[in-house]
Amino acid sequence: MSDKEKPRQESNLVEKIKAVRGMHDITPSRSRHWAAMEAKLAELLNSYGYAEIRTPLVESTHLFKRSIGEVTDIIEKEMYTFGDRNDDSLSLRPEGTASCVRAVIEQSLLDIPQKLWYCGPMFRYERPQKGRQRQFHQIGGEAFGFEGIQVELETLIMHQRFWQSLGLSEHVELEVNSIGTIACRARYKEALVSYLEGYQKDLDEDSQRRLGSNPLRILDSKDAGTRRILEGAPVLDDFMHKDSKSSFELLQSKLSDLGIHARRNDRLVRGLDYYNDTVFEWVSGLLGSQATVCAGGRYDALVEQLGGKPTPAFGFAMGLERLMLMLEETEFARLDVPEIADFYVVVADAAFQSRAFEVTEAIRSRFPSKACYQHLNAGSMKSQFKRADRLRASYVLVIAQQEYETQSVSVKNMTTGEQHSCDVSQDFASLFELLAA
Ligand code: ATP
Ligand code: MG
Repeated sequence: MSDKEKPRQESNLVEKIKAVRGMHDITPSRSRHWAAMEAKLAELLNSYGYAEIRTPLVESTHLFKRSIGEVTDIIEKEMYTFGDRNDDSLSLRPEGTASCVRAVIEQSLLDIPQKLWYCGPMFRYERPQKGRQRQFHQIGGEAFGFEGIQVELETLIMHQRFWQSLGLSEHVELEVNSIGTIACRARYKEALVSYLEGYQKDLDEDSQRRLGSNPLRILDSKDAGTRRILEGAPVLDDFMHKDSKSSFELLQSKLSDLGIHARRNDRLVRGLDYYNDTVFEWVSGLLGSQATVCAGGRYDALVEQLGGKPTPAFGFAMGLERLMLMLEETEFARLDVPEIADFYVVVADAAFQSRAFEVTEAIRSRFPSKACYQHLNAGSMKSQFKRADRLRASYVLVIAQQEYETQSVSVKNMTTGEQHSCDVSQDFASLFELLAA
């Protein structure tokens, strides 16, 4: 075996490393749609007075335990938790609200009302399936320092605008509920548990476990037997404080006045401990069983619970993979956006590459939004033109011996077939004029 052959043979034996289960690459044909979707959402959030906050992907495990709640699905079985070299317990963030609250307290941002948005990956150890990954992305918003229903209305109006601008209005439905204050919920929990204890043996396994830990989640159960038992269970409405009730009624009537159709779903309890009063979900028929694309609610106690001054808060998070699944049903993401070159510079000999760099850099400064490619590998002129063709280049710029010697480039307009020679010694003036035409 010659030395030349050896590395190639060995590389065939190397086991390919795959991405972690439930964590996906977003390759160029998709990433263009992702970037467009994220840009649109960011623009809308900014237009409602939200400012971006970026927090670390990793936080102290305590943060999530204290905010999301010890006996929730996320904390019990979905977190990626590890000890670092200092034996501190850290976790990959499973959601954005806890980090955001930690940050506004730590950075003393709560003297005035704040509306913040974030966007990025979240991590949960769940069974991967359509619309459910282990690394997924959320864009979310948190409004701090706003009491009452006005901020809730504004948030839902903003969501309505999201759907409109993405062409999805017909594919989403809003579900709302009020889960009452934390105190009402505690009284309701007691009543629910004492009712369900009478049927303990007939509940599904998960619900039996939740009876002692997180009984409200039983309301969410999909098990037919449990559902039947729930039909006779006490209802939260009967335990709700009159203020919670009247504010929820007002919210529903204002939504209706605004033409935002909201369906009351009294089983909507949300999986996290920190919510109170209004909770909501936007669900879509396009998503199969993972139907919720955006969810949120009020969490007036969380800031104080994490050591800040008492601050009312309302927030939401939208799952971007699920949003993308929906967009794939529409023009927005069905269109295959090809990679297109505006300018393609071909070079007859490697010796002319430095001149090509001067030309491409000048073009990029002058036309920053255009895609300018320089052929960097060796190759015949024919193969370089072929590559330019494949990228549907508008202009091909040629630097060969003659151009090199005369400080010029030949420019071919690929649409008309016209060719020009441009002097590049004079600050590229004639070249820019031609390319701008
Ligand atoms: P689900 O009912 O799907 O488990 P959840 O109540 O756990 O959702 P939230 O914590 O409210 O979800 O997160 C808000 C949004 O983030 C969800 O509505 C969904 O769009 C998205 N999301 C949550 N978990 C995942 C996941 N594992 N993969 C993809 N998207 C997710
Ligand atoms: Mg979940």
